[in-house]
Amino acid sequence: MSGLYTRLVSGLLFPLHERLKQHDSVALRRGLEDSQWWPRERIEALQLERLRALLVHARDHVPYYREGFARIGFDPAAIASLAELQRLPFLGKAEIRANTEALKADDAVGLARFNTGGSSGEPLIFFIGDRRVSHDVAAKWRATRWWGVDIGDPEIVVWGSPIELGAQDRVRALRDRLFRTELLPAFEMSATKLDGFVARIRARRPRMLFGYPSALSHIGLHAERRGIRMDDLGIEVAFCTSERLYDHQREAIERVFGCPVANGYGSRDAGFIAHQCPQGGMHLTAEDLIVEIVDGEGRVLPPGQAGEIVVTHLATGDFPFIRYRTGDVAVMDTATCACGRGLPMLREIQGRATDFVVARDGTVMHGLALIYVLRDLPQVAGFRIVQESLEHTRVQVVPGVGFDADTVGRIEHGLAARLGEGVRIDVEQVAEIAPEKSGKYRYVVSKVDASEVSCAT
Ligand SMILES: [Zn+2]
Repeated sequence: MSGLYTRLVSGLLFPLHERLKQHDSVALRRGLEDSQWWPRERIEALQLERLRALLVHARDHVPYYREGFARIGFDPAAIASLAELQRLPFLGKAEIRANTEALKADDAVGLARFNTGGSSGEPLIFFIGDRRVSHDVAAKWRATRWWGVDIGDPEIVVWGSPIELGAQDRVRALRDRLFRTELLPAFEMSATKLDGFVARIRARRPRMLFGYPSALSHIGLHAERRGIRMDDLGIEVAFCTSERLYDHQREAIERVFGCPVANGYGSRDAGFIAHQCPQGGMHLTAEDLIVEIVDGEGRVLPPGQAGEIVVTHLATGDFPFIRYRTGDVAVMDTATCACGRGLPMLREIQGRATDFVVARDGTVMHGLALIYVLRDLPQVAGFRIVQESLEHTRVQVVPGVGFDADTVGRIEHGLAARLGEGVRIDVEQVAEIAPEKSGKYRYVVSKVDASEVSCAT
């Protein structure tokens, strides 16, 4: 049952907020709540229609695609099947970086600049237009409501990014208060901080949790060790995102908070790709996204085989993401879900591993704390951080333009400041960073067991 305040927020305040931002997410969400029940063929027909419109628009308004289509003699108006998408080249981070201006539509509305989140070792600047924002908001909103909760219900968000107090953040803080969202900055996980997080969650009595599975399970296990109950607060669901969700994390979160875990998969660049429903299906946002699974040679794989997730976001006319390589690995599911939704499903999403690291004094930090040190250095073309022990961390670096002894000093200083003085930092220059066996790149690998360390504190 939603409370009166939730109904006020979901039915009035949030729609008003979206209208002020010129987003039409309210109408879009209503549409998605209808189309999710359509049979597969009808959803595919919608995809084809929207794909054709996206490609025709790209030809008419986006210089990169106008030239690209002409070069290969591709007529977007003539496509008759979704498989014809395979005639187009992939869009990788390198292509976006080299063609950022040429990817902007000449009729784009409200383009805003974004930087990829921390887990990628190679920063990417890209643009998102108003229309796409509305679609991503609507998709997330729909998935939230699958779980019997809604925007406006009290929510705790556990997030790893450092809190900055600019004017925009004060506006966000006000908005968060209005929508009853409280942010816990899980950037640093000392025992004292964890005690504070547990107390905030108990005081807030949220109906939903949202955050990294590593962070939520870490907070939960800390409460459990302290003998503090968290399953009596009325938490309905824990939404996990941004990282691979491991079974042991799911079990810990469900046990401690006394609620199911709903896994979500998406990112600012690739969009709101898939989300779990209460019956367990990891449903794609198929009305907005065409997902392909491809092998190392770029061939599309049949369902059941693991490969890289490639996304075409149908609402990206302003700055198209057409056959965008995510770098993540998954398997397309062939089953139908007990919930009856016609939306196709992913299973076994591998990758998105951002480990925790442990400072010398036992403070557990999100791997992003270290990633930020290297990501901010333009002289670094690629990197991987390996925490060998509490006393020793190795950094593999692919040197970029301007890389010198000063850059090495800044890396050493930056990491030592976070991991603790006296920690040995070895910076190794390499020609390239090899992927893990799974084919996925991990930018932070910690061989220190965070759960054992914080037990001792
Ligand atoms: Zn389902």
